Amino acid sequence: MAKVALITGITGQDGSYLSELLFKKGYEVYGLIRRASTFNTKRIDHLYRDPHEQNVHLKLVYGDLNDASSLNRIIKTIKPEEIYNLAAQSHVRVSFDIPEYTSEIGALGATRLLEAIRDSGIKTKYYQASSSEMFGNSKDFPQNEKTPFYPRSPYAVSKVYAYWITVNYREAYNIFACNGILFNHESPRRGETFVTRKITLGLARIKHGVQKKLFLGNLDAKRDWGFAGDYVEAMWLMLQQKKADDFVVATGETHSVKEFLAEAFGYAGLDWKKFVEIDKRYFRPTEVDCLIGDSSKARKSLNWKPKVKFKDLVKMMVDSDMDLVKKELYGEKGRK
Ligand code: NAP
Ligand code: GDP
Repeated sequence: MAKVALITGITGQDGSYLSELLFKKGYEVYGLIRRASTFNTKRIDHLYRDPHEQNVHLKLVYGDLNDASSLNRIIKTIKPEEIYNLAAQSHVRVSFDIPEYTSEIGALGATRLLEAIRDSGIKTKYYQASSSEMFGNSKDFPQNEKTPFYPRSPYAVSKVYAYWITVNYREAYNIFACNGILFNHESPRRGETFVTRKITLGLARIKHGVQKKLFLGNLDAKRDWGFAGDYVEAMWLMLQQKKADDFVVATGETHSVKEFLAEAFGYAGLDWKKFVEIDKRYFRPTEVDCLIGDSSKARKSLNWKPKVKFKDLVKMMVDSDMDLVKKELYGEKGRK
């Protein structure tokens, strides 16, 4: 019998990569989607629409992390063996504008899901999408599972709450619950307002003459950027262990936004300084200056390591956005 998994945040970047991985491993995958005024499934359409992929059959169920009764019902009905909680208002800058909603979903949403597990009495394994943003203003480098948290945004504070409620349900109720403390991870499917994707999409539009300038905020911030496809494997591995635990997932390399710009524009044969302008609106009231992760625990215990290097990640994203813009401009064949 196929294992059953439930993914919240299925329509997001990580949800799409994780469902592909679970399908490859023979799982039956359910995804929680919420009602929106427009249909928002472009990252997962290939997983339930493609008639040639006989084994791929994503099942979508309506629910919301804001709606406990839907979570209770879904868990009791489908009885998943694994639950991956990836849903969040995941944008740090936006969390300063909608702090209450960000916590409602990020912090209380995790609690609702854990409560639904506890109430259902089913034996399931739970993955919580924790974040390197929890380290925030920490001056300990590199950051590992023992580094104290110093969150710098409502988003990060909500993730600290979710982290601890996950630990608490593990200790209090013996629920198999893990925190994956993932450093930034990107891909061609990354949301378009995160800095990496904003750069690669902006660059592709500039290269094709449909955008003149790229407006950005703090270019000195440094992040440990990995590839989302590699990181979802670590999520799965955590739930395959004998004992539930928390793991940092990172590349161990850090690069500034400027370095990302130089790499991306350089690859396309352009000088970023001619196209980038600073717009104060993209600065945050409190910034996270530098993140760099030490994932030696995951590498040792999970036998996990990242495969895609920084330069290859940048190239992958630039190539993909160049194709995307070409298609938008000239249709599927990419020509005039
Ligand atoms: P994402 O692309 O922004 O996806 C977020 C997902 O959450 C979307 O599917 C979204 O659904 C869903 N969602 C939002 N509010 C919801 C609600 N009220 N009820 C149910 N679903 C809701 O995020 P991602 O990059 O894939 O990241 C996945 C998770 O990992 C997030 O929790 C994020 O905070 C965390 N994380 C990400 C990174 C990173 O670098 N990517 C690093 C560390 C941790 P809609 O499509 O309907 O909006
Ligand atoms: P985060 O690490 O989760 O906040 O991921 P982001 O991709 O949103 O931001 C990474 C870093 O890029 C942060 O330090 C931002 O301040 C910086 N940054 C600079 N300009 C921009 C911008 O225009 N948009 C975003 N999203 N971030 C920017």
